[in-house]
Amino acid sequence: MKYLYNPPLVMKKIFSDFSWNTSNGKILLTFDDGPNPGTTETILRKLSDEKIKALFFCVGDNVQKYPDLVKQIKAAGHTFGNHTLNHKILNQISNEEKDYQISSVNQLFKDQFGIKIKYFRPSHGKFQLSTSSLMKKYQLKNIMWSLLTYDYKNDLSIVKFAVEKYLKHNSIIVLHDSNKSKNIISDSISFIADEVEKRNYQFGEAEECLS
Ligand SMILES: [Zn+2]
Repeated sequence: MKYLYNPPLVMKKIFSDFSWNTSNGKILLTFDDGPNPGTTETILRKLSDEKIKALFFCVGDNVQKYPDLVKQIKAAGHTFGNHTLNHKILNQISNEEKDYQISSVNQLFKDQFGIKIKYFRPSHGKFQLSTSSLMKKYQLKNIMWSLLTYDYKNDLSIVKFAVEKYLKHNSIIVLHDSNKSKNIISDSISFIADEVEKRNYQFGEAEECLS
């Protein structure tokens, strides 16, 4: 699947067991690829200021490298999702490797932080038919999106364009906890929060938005 601000309806229909929008009419912010020193702290500060609870799709490698950041995210009351162990693309690896990329991250969160992971997002948003059965096998819900901000292009005007055009009351929004978006992440969150307020929309937490 290609990168799109908002994936096409036909794809959402075929993969209707995946989440593309929230189920409760609220907006869910998600952050992919972290934790990452220098951005995670900035994001946490901003989310606290704006009183938003988000969903962090973490890469297992980064969880192992930066356990203190994981603890900070947890302490702030945010939710975690599995974003594979090494950000491998599911369509490009063997079945054994797919199992490992997913199961090892669930195990890591359970063993090191006492967290049971319920959500998954594939690296680069790339999935295939077999992804549905993998989700069942590991009791995960695949969380896609309805608003990709392209924040990793490091250009706030692109984020603003995407949000102004595609934000809806039930959007699942993708941002990145990575060096690529470092310089604009704080302003991106502010812009989204302002837009949400202006339109009388509401932010929700993962649990209520994805039930
Ligand atoms: Zn990613």
